[in-house]
Amino acid sequence: MIGSRIELITSERGKELALVNLYKHRFVGYRKKDGALKWRCSTNKNCTAIIFSTPEKILVCDVSGSHNHDADPQSKLDRQVLRENCKRKAEESISCRPVKIIRTELLKTQLAIKCSDITSVRKAMYDKRRKIMSSLPKSLNEALEQLRNLQLDDSFMYKNQQFIHAPPNEQFVCITTANNISFLIKNCTELFGDGTFEYCPKYFMQLYTIHGLKREYTGAILTRCENARVSPEYHASF
Ligand SMILES: [Zn+2]
Repeated sequence: MIGSRIELITSERGKELALVNLYKHRFVGYRKKDGALKWRCSTNKNCTAIIFSTPEKILVCDVSGSHNHDADPQSKLDRQVLRENCKRKAEESISCRPVKIIRTELLKTQLAIKCSDITSVRKAMYDKRRKIMSSLPKSLNEALEQLRNLQLDDSFMYKNQQFIHAPPNEQFVCITTANNISFLIKNCTELFGDGTFEYCPKYFMQLYTIHGLKREYTGAILTRCENARVSPEYHASF
């Protein structure tokens, strides 16, 4: 085992694991006499197998004890590698569809993955995202409060620009960017605004959209969700 190559993979908790000959080891500290990295078997709590590596984490330079159990099947390790890679991507690219992330990861590797494995990978990705996303609001005030908290969040920017605008003490939210507003004021020759009560996000009553016309082309420039049919601040955002 000395001289074996180490492959670094990620554990379910996001920690680094050293994979050697299909056995997983977790980092536990440094050896006193030479500062070598000490890795203990992570599969079985009662297993005393330890490997040591140089700081580069490439080769095993010493071992102590031996495994008292079978190695993990390659298919199980492949599934873990795919799952952890996909979970990391799901967190980094919050709006990317899980199926697209899985497909990209599968194309990059030669992993032996079964169809049933994909289901568990998808579930792990959704679970990961659920931890960083807000829970679904249960009232208008909760929805507004969440939007106010999210409006300056890096994950909710469009081309690095804020697009959620939820003013304090107001019961509406505007979805647009500063660039869109500037385009609307400077370039559009005609503006068309209309609201719908039928298709509106939950807890809001009206969805009001402004389209701008420029050289025969129109496009939605500002969308606004309003919680009342008539209110004093109805035109406050325009
Ligand atoms: Zn072991």
